[in-house]
Amino acid sequence: MTQPDPKRMHRISDENARIVDLVLDYSRRRILSNDTPLDKPAPPAELARLAGPTVTEAGLGADRALSIFEHVLAPACITTDHPQYLSFIPVAPTKAATAFDLVVSASALYGGSWLEGAGAVHAENEVLTWLANEFGLPAGAGGVFVQGGTLGNLSALVAAREEAKRRFDERGEAYPPRWKVVCGAEAHSSIASAARIMDVEAVPVAHDEGGVLRGDAVAAALAEHGASVFAVVATGGSTNFGIVDDLAGVAEAVRGHDVWFHIDGAYGLAAMLSPLVRDRFRGVEQADSVIVDPHKWLFAPFDACALIYRDPAAGRRAHTQHAEYLDTLTDSAEWSPSDYAAHLTRRARGLPTWFSLATYGAAAYRDAITSSIELAHRVAAEIERREGFTLVRQPQLAVVVFERDGWTKADYDQWSLRLLEDQQAFVTPSSHAGRTNARFAILNPTTTFEHLTAILDTMA
Ligand SMILES: *Cc1c(COP(=O)(O)O)cnc(C)c1O
Repeated sequence: MTQPDPKRMHRISDENARIVDLVLDYSRRRILSNDTPLDKPAPPAELARLAGPTVTEAGLGADRALSIFEHVLAPACITTDHPQYLSFIPVAPTKAATAFDLVVSASALYGGSWLEGAGAVHAENEVLTWLANEFGLPAGAGGVFVQGGTLGNLSALVAAREEAKRRFDERGEAYPPRWKVVCGAEAHSSIASAARIMDVEAVPVAHDEGGVLRGDAVAAALAEHGASVFAVVATGGSTNFGIVDDLAGVAEAVRGHDVWFHIDGAYGLAAMLSPLVRDRFRGVEQADSVIVDPHKWLFAPFDACALIYRDPAAGRRAHTQHAEYLDTLTDSAEWSPSDYAAHLTRRARGLPTWFSLATYGAAAYRDAITSSIELAHRVAAEIERREGFTLVRQPQLAVVVFERDGWTKADYDQWSLRLLEDQQAFVTPSSHAGRTNARFAILNPTTTFEHLTAILDTMA
């Protein structure tokens, strides 16, 4: 019988030094590899058979556990930063951001409070302030990095409703029977999810023929639904098409109403960094809150959404948690990120973006984003030129949606499966107005025109 050794997992020992080296070596190889295959999912039974039991009383040891990860588990995960990953919204973290993500863990940073994480919070706030400035929001705007756009949208809308309640309370008025949030009919599914969680009604407003939410349609909805509306949500770059709503028009419609203006820019708002499309976002500067996901077009690893309030005090009023053990934090005037969203303990997930921005500079981001927009336009022109293809819409940002004439849904499904089976590309079918189509979400700066035309060739 060996003696129990409660310190074994934490001690500075040869065993632990070797474990750390193994993991860092693997990470270094993966970060610097340019031939990680696309990979693909495997059925649960196959993974169980190949991996065998992994959680055991005695432990497998790091060599065995890492080997199972490298040879069984990782190959069953699609390589989302692969240049031919073009589905959904890809991720394409910079080398600096990915590497620094290791530092965030290694340093055991606590990102919830100023007391515990002042240095990390300062760096995250540098990024948030820089973004707010790019968006034209006033000095003093700020917020927090949350897990994703879904939680960012929810946290913003909760703050919006708390502000509406406050106004009703101040006037001594009874709340409306049902609070409402006005949004585009094609707003991201996370808005409907937030409405469900908050038990409020999402009022969908029709877009124009170009898929754009316009001010006059929002004005009509506000007139119809009156004081029960606590927020209007516009989209700064739709996920399906990259369409930017008429943000200035919507801001104009909202002005004069006691209504919070939120912009969901999870995918697209990063494009404001590119001079090519900056003008399309006019009106952002009037938002009460915005979100943008660094894990999308700001080249950060999963998971990070920047939530920015025009007046952070409103976010704080809505979200600060009060508890006896927290009083020492919440009684202070210091900036604690936990106070600005529906969360408490948090990773300093904004730091990889901070390190990468600090390392390469903002201009490198502008260039990388611009290159994807240019590539999207180039491949859109190629699709228009090719016999048998129809471009569904001119791309605004870097999403290209097109049809292969005469194809049924089954054709697209088979084609998509074959692309992944052949490890050539990951392009899942999408649909619009009941018609199946193909969609390239171009975001990774290492994606080339030749990658894309080779995919078009497979549809001949
Ligand atoms: C991706 C996306 C979201 C959701 O963000 P997550 O980080 O996936 O939670 C919300 N809105 C838009 C427009 C998006 O593209």
